Amino acid sequence: MSELTNKSLTELVSLIKTKELKSEDITKDFIDNCNKGEKLNAFVTNAFDHALDKAKNFDKNPNLDCLLPGIPLAVKDLFCTEGVRTTAGSKMLENFIPNYESTVTNNLWSEGAFLLGKLNCDEFAMGSSNETSYFGNVINPLKDNVVPGGSSGGSAAAVCANLTPATIGTDTGGSIRQPASFTGTVGLKPTYGLCSRWGIVAFASSLDQAGPMTKNVSDCALMLEAMVGFDPKDSTSINKKKENYSKNLSKDIKGLKIGIPKEYRVDGMPSQIEELWDKGKKILKEEGAEIIDISLPHTEYALPTYYIVAPAEASSNLARYDGVKYGFRSSKGANLIEMYENTRSEGFGDEVKRRILIGTYVLSSGYYDAYYLKAQKVRQLIKRDFDQSFKNVDAILTPSTPSSAFQIGEKKDDPISMYLNDVFTVPVNLAGVPAISIPAGLDKNKLPLGLQLIGKPLAEQTLLNIAYSMEDKINFKLDLNKWWEN
Ligand code: GLN
Repeated sequence: MSELTNKSLTELVSLIKTKELKSEDITKDFIDNCNKGEKLNAFVTNAFDHALDKAKNFDKNPNLDCLLPGIPLAVKDLFCTEGVRTTAGSKMLENFIPNYESTVTNNLWSEGAFLLGKLNCDEFAMGSSNETSYFGNVINPLKDNVVPGGSSGGSAAAVCANLTPATIGTDTGGSIRQPASFTGTVGLKPTYGLCSRWGIVAFASSLDQAGPMTKNVSDCALMLEAMVGFDPKDSTSINKKKENYSKNLSKDIKGLKIGIPKEYRVDGMPSQIEELWDKGKKILKEEGAEIIDISLPHTEYALPTYYIVAPAEASSNLARYDGVKYGFRSSKGANLIEMYENTRSEGFGDEVKRRILIGTYVLSSGYYDAYYLKAQKVRQLIKRDFDQSFKNVDAILTPSTPSSAFQIGEKKDDPISMYLNDVFTVPVNLAGVPAISIPAGLDKNKLPLGLQLIGKPLAEQTLLNIAYSMEDKINFKLDLNKWWEN
């Protein structure tokens, strides 16, 4: 029976549609796996009873005319779920139970899926290793002393270890693509505005985007199709007709032009990553695509720009956690000001405090022009680099990360080396364009490495198609020894 959890989302949906499987069977198997996988610390809150109820109800009266009929799904604990605790990985929201549902999760439930649980993540999605979570770090299912990446590390680990058929994460600077790359899974950050931000705990609002994390590219297309949609409640939501990403998935990429940016060859990058990139180029050529060298000249400024813009927006977004309206409140303090101060010092972890300090600094009068305003200008230049390149190419191929997954604790006390993880992912968020990470090979320690495809605004279908044709040739297989079940 437990073989069911090895199946892809696409296979499970098809088995439900042909009535060969019941939702209850699938749900029970996943719950069983989740219980066995407790050591991974991927879940903050489970919704197993809710999921079983939903599955039984579905089986009594199945509606098969939807994208995700009877499918249990665990989601990153940054999406507000009505009546189910939503912590954002923070002590500040340890007991927060929203009375509303995020638009994206609502869209998934409208397509027949239901909640299996809430997945661990870095505190307020700030981090690259899942070590900043108040609920403890998540462990990479592929090796017991290694991080799963972050901030959607619980999501990546849960897909990798078959604790959920698929999931959703959020990506502000790489938090879907980097953990996907570290766990041999597929992760897509859509064009900014394609998925609604309504009901997602805000980190940096001009960069935050939700997206799918899955076992393969078909599943990714299916999940994306179910998530997207115009939402009047998000002022940056794009009003466009929904696309049938899964139906239109095609391996025909003949004649597409793929750019290789010279600036993504960074000092000290392991040779295996370079080799992987070459392998990617070779596969694309064999598939009939044309490889073109390009330049994204402002790439080197992306990381410093991101680490000004994101903390600036975070310092503003996190001002709401004052102990008055909702969330944690310190019991110490003789007056209102002291209560605010104690609430914020006790409720936030160190990384979040660091970001608030940086953000407040770069926005303060006297420093605003030198940092924040300048960063906004550089952001525009980075976006312009992409606009220029996309006049000549249909997509861009790069490595997803400059290294494979690192050891737990290895970078925890060195924020700069932690931030360097995002060097290939943040330019995409600053430009608002879509990108997908697919597993492409293993390093010498048998840890997965990902390749990233970056696309034109709203060209998710093109990215999925390229990824789909490469996936076949790469033929990546996860080797799960399930050490956590012992
Ligand atoms: N690692 C990056 C950061 O810490 C990205 C986080 C994200 O995408 N949510 O800011």
